[in-house]
This record gives sequence, C-alpha cells and structure tokens, in this order.
Amino acid sequence: MYSEEELLSLSGIQHFYFCKRQWALIHVEQQWAENRATMEGKFIHENADNPFFIESRKNTFISRAIPLVSYNLGFYGIADIVEFTKVKKGIVLQNKEGFWKPNIVEYKRGKPKEDKRDIVQLVLEVLCLEEMLNYNISSADFFYNETKRRVKVKMTDDLREDVTNLAKSMHDIYKNRTTPKAEKGKHCKSCSLVDICMPRLTNKKANIANYIEKYCKLGDDDN
Ligand code: SF4
Repeated sequence: MYSEEELLSLSGIQHFYFCKRQWALIHVEQQWAENRATMEGKFIHENADNPFFIESRKNTFISRAIPLVSYNLGFYGIADIVEFTKVKKGIVLQNKEGFWKPNIVEYKRGKPKEDKRDIVQLVLEVLCLEEMLNYNISSADFFYNETKRRVKVKMTDDLREDVTNLAKSMHDIYKNRTTPKAEKGKHCKSCSLVDICMPRLTNKKANIANYIEKYCKLGDDDN
C-alpha cells in the first residue's frame, strides 16, 4: 500500500509507455513543470463549469471529472466520464435506488493510436475505480473526437498485468530518482521534450563513457 505522499499522477503512464525518459523528465525532474501547470489549469478551467456534473437518462446517468485513487498501485487522477447503468446486480450508490454498473469513458482529442499508450492509461483508471468501488469492471470506452467514435477496450488479464508492471516500474524510478538514458528512435520526432532531452547528446555522453571505460580496461590489461 502506498501513502498519500507517494501517489503518482496516473496520466503519466501514457508518457511512460511512450518513453520512460520523457516521463522521468516531466514527473521526476519536473522539467516541464510550467507546461504541465498550464495544461492542468486548462483542464480545470474547461471542467470548472460542471465539476461532478450529472446528466440523467432513463436507467443511465453520467458523472464527469470523477477523482480516482489506488493505494495498492500508488496512483491518483481523474476519469473524464463515468456512466452508470441500472442493472440487477451491481454497486449501490448514495441517493440512487437499485444497483448500478460503472463504465469509464475517456475522451481523446485525436484518433486511436497505433500503440497502447492510451489503453494503458484507461486500464489504470479502471484499476483505480475497481479498488474504490470494490467491483470488477470488464471493459471501458474511449471516445475519439476526430473520428467521433467510441472504442471499447476489454480489461484482459494480460492488460491488467502489463499495467501493474508499468506502475511498479514507475514507482521504482521515482523512488530512486534515476532518469533513464535516451533511447533515440522514431518516437523522438514527435516528442515535445526533444530540446530538453537532447537524445543525441545523451547518447554521445554514453558512448564517450563506454569508450573511456573500454580503453581504461585495455590500459589496465596492458599493465
Ligand atoms: S527525445 Fe526521445 S528519448 Fe528523449 S524524451 Fe523524447 S522520446 Fe524520449
């Protein structure tokens, strides 16, 4: 179990999946602190008009901006929308009659990504909500603004295990304050931190370190 002080932002898991170094620069070294604050401010501003806003339809209602937390995994965050549908067997809600099934709907600006970076965030949100409600959730949805489509994601055992392992790695890196070295690749082209990360230089430093280590060893052997 993690304490309040140890909780990490769950939205960081998408950065971590994309590039561990990018996540560490943002969340461990706080290199992007200003941008992050701006973004969080924007998010709060966009949702300020309707925090916990509830819309109802027959047998279904939705709640917006639901705070999430998992003390088992050590994460906190916000779910864009949780839909509740009336079912025969489900959870009990305050001021609502009957039983209800929760379903997270995460809004994304673009279209579905080729990799799993959005999915790992959604799974982590589900794991948080499951812990909070003590209820097993079998799937969750994305709504992609560009395609105006919902995409359902099943919470498989493999996805749950992958996300649990990612969560542990994030805590290990955060605890040790060790920013991983740059792994220069195609992903660097779309990275907003490329000027801060300087992947070429980081690799060069690593190469120089390898070179020195190699030739020092050779020197030792020669002696
Ligand atoms: S520039 Fe590349 S290695 Fe550096 S943080 Fe961005 S994606 Fe990661």
